[in-house]
Amino acid sequence: MEPTLQGRLHTVLGAARQTLYYSHPDRRYLFEPAACRIAENPDTALQHFPGVGLSFFHENQHAFLNRAAPRIEARDIAGPWPATPSVTVLEPWFRLNGGTNILTELNLLALRRLAPEALAGPPASLRWLARQAIDGHFILPSLRFGVVVFIGLGAGLLSSEDHDLLWEAFQVPVWTQWRGFAGEILAAEAECRAGLHVVAGNGIFESAGPAGRLHLTSLENLRHPVLRLDTGLAADLQSGRCECGLTTPRLVGLRHYEEPRPAARAMAASA
Ligand SMILES: [Zn+2]
Repeated sequence: MEPTLQGRLHTVLGAARQTLYYSHPDRRYLFEPAACRIAENPDTALQHFPGVGLSFFHENQHAFLNRAAPRIEARDIAGPWPATPSVTVLEPWFRLNGGTNILTELNLLALRRLAPEALAGPPASLRWLARQAIDGHFILPSLRFGVVVFIGLGAGLLSSEDHDLLWEAFQVPVWTQWRGFAGEILAAEAECRAGLHVVAGNGIFESAGPAGRLHLTSLENLRHPVLRLDTGLAADLQSGRCECGLTTPRLVGLRHYEEPRPAARAMAASA
């Protein structure tokens, strides 16, 4: 039986409690009230935990390590393709299951030899590759299923210019997946192309304020649990049934978070 959201929240809280960061006196008293709130309203159970900045998390990973957690499992690509293409993944930050070719360094010769039918990787790697193709340094005639872009955790976003670049280079569809620290899929673009559908049970996204500042709690990453990670991104979180039939919330208008201007803040305060 799949664990419920409540069950997953208890698990992630238990994992966080094991870490150096959350066992600090400033934070460890937050766990009991949070655990009590889970049954009543799981969506707000974590609201009293302070957000954790992305760069702070990256620089202090040791403080978020939960030694009791099992080793992080390998992940599948889970591309939106009807068939099972031969996929090459460029510079992934997580482990992948067998059957997928991996290039930990960008190497055009090696890539050509692998003759991928689909590609995946973070924006920077794919952007670089597309430029190489446009500049005539290589061609990839085998590529026909599409490209999956991994975003999240400071990997950056794919701009509309990047979309154009990838199209010009490869002329295949491009799909975005939000991957967590352990490679878990937290949100992914679906057939509707109407934003990224949150993968139910894998994480909790919170979009706050008019600027849509996005915090994320992964319920899958028990090795480095982090509650309310400030993603540095912003989006509108839309619920209700989507035209594609999915009922999970969607991240719409994903963008880099920008601090509201002081004038806007003052107006909001006086309103
Ligand atoms: Zn949809």
